[in-house]
Amino acid sequence: MDDSTNEIILFELIQVTQAKSSVGMEPLGFRKGLERLLDEGIHVKVVTTDRHPSIWKTLRETFPDIDHQFDPWHITKGIKKKLVQASKRKYCKDIGPSIKSVTNHLWWCCSTSKGDGEELIRRWKSLHHIRGVHRWEENGEEHKCYHPDLSADEQRKKRWLLEDSAAFKALYEVVMNRRLLQDLEQMTLFKHTAMYICDGR
Ligand SMILES: [Zn+2]
Repeated sequence: MDDSTNEIILFELIQVTQAKSSVGMEPLGFRKGLERLLDEGIHVKVVTTDRHPSIWKTLRETFPDIDHQFDPWHITKGIKKKLVQASKRKYCKDIGPSIKSVTNHLWWCCSTSKGDGEELIRRWKSLHHIRGVHRWEENGEEHKCYHPDLSADEQRKKRWLLEDSAAFKALYEVVMNRRLLQDLEQMTLFKHTAMYICDGR
């Protein structure tokens, strides 16, 4: 799907006999399709996928000049699953009410980073708000949350996670996962896959 027009510009049909296995059909179809576009002289700058490992490998090894972006929807889905699992651990049920906020936060980080990977990761790793801290210092710079100031009543009523609680530690592990932080660098353009549109989400 072309990102600027949302039009399907290419379709590849692969027979199972063409690939070594059924799993191999996806990268084969992807590669053939992309090569067809390039052969036609179309300049492909960015390709957005659901982060399927075989496609990731094909792009990295065969088309290193193309910027490979991941659809935040797929990554968000994975984070949600991990947080739900974490919330079932002992003393971790307080994670539950925060799950929606965390996934919204990821969406916001990607949609506002404007291609700046460093800023995206800084925003994502900022675990202050969830502890009820809305102003903080980082590397000698003053930072604050982007939401309007909370009233004393709002601040008191909301259930924040305590820094030394099991729930906060479990959430911290999910947020700081090394592979996730690497993936975020490929989500700076806030691009989506065709499926996102077709699903009507
Ligand atoms: Zn805040």
